[in-house]
Amino acid sequence: MKKLENKIIVITGAGMGLGLATAIEAAKEGAKLSLIDYNAKALEDAKTSILKAYPEAKVLTLVADVSKEEAVKAYVDETVKTYGRIDGFYNNAGIEGKQALLADYDLDVFKKVIDINLMGVYYGMRYIIPVMQKQNYGRIVNVASVGGIRGVMNQTPYVATKHAVSGITKNAALEYSRYGILTNAIAPGAILTPMVAEAFREINPADPKKAETEYAQFNPTKRLGLPEEVGKLVVFLMSEDCSYVSGQTIAIDGGQSNSY
Ligand code: NAD
Repeated sequence: MKKLENKIIVITGAGMGLGLATAIEAAKEGAKLSLIDYNAKALEDAKTSILKAYPEAKVLTLVADVSKEEAVKAYVDETVKTYGRIDGFYNNAGIEGKQALLADYDLDVFKKVIDINLMGVYYGMRYIIPVMQKQNYGRIVNVASVGGIRGVMNQTPYVATKHAVSGITKNAALEYSRYGILTNAIAPGAILTPMVAEAFREINPADPKKAETEYAQFNPTKRLGLPEEVGKLVVFLMSEDCSYVSGQTIAIDGGQSNSY
């Protein structure tokens, strides 16, 4: 039996990176997918690559900006219209913003990070939880970060929103676990996705590979994480095998956040 056989799984930010890697792992495990992204081209490419690997997969794609409440309501309604229910929600879309000290931070970028990383996560839960409540079943996996557990130089709005995601996760678990809706968050360290590649380009524009190698030296495993490693953890948290873990923020970072 596959781990997500016939489960209806919604994934935001599914066009690339951790969202796409998780969509591929979920398709492998038999899920029917509703994939959301505001980048229509990335979303179509994602669908093509999933169907290439798993031609029997069911893949609905919906272009939506998660920071717009109406767009979130629309992707939830369309998913329910298509599949009839929602079993798992990987609430993943997020951005890093720019690198700058707290007092120098560009206010427009600061607000954009809040709109996507905090409001986008909240809107998704606001509209999907009632669907799951009617079913008396659901699994929600929010995406925090090690920046949701610790501070990260030059990333104040990112760190603030990721701590908030961890807080929302705890509250959802308190309020809705009684309805069979288990909510957890993951806190990835540096996982080699387009977002992290961009951060290394910002840190050392002349030699981003050098920035990556230097960063990896601080990790106990001496390497960055791979998107599919995150995908496998999320599949577990969205499956029925996850039956008594609720309200946790689980680090997936090669152990780096234990260090000082
Ligand atoms: P990525 O930039 O590689 O991919 C993010 C995807 O989300 C893109 O397809 C993008 O188009 C989409 N997206 C962004 N904003 C959106 C919006 N408003 N509406 C709809 N789609 C939107 O990023 P990633 O590295 O895969 O990161 C995914 C999540 O994981 C983010 O929440 C990020 O903060 C978190 N995270 C990543 C890492 C890492 O090392 N990669 C570490 C910690 C946390």
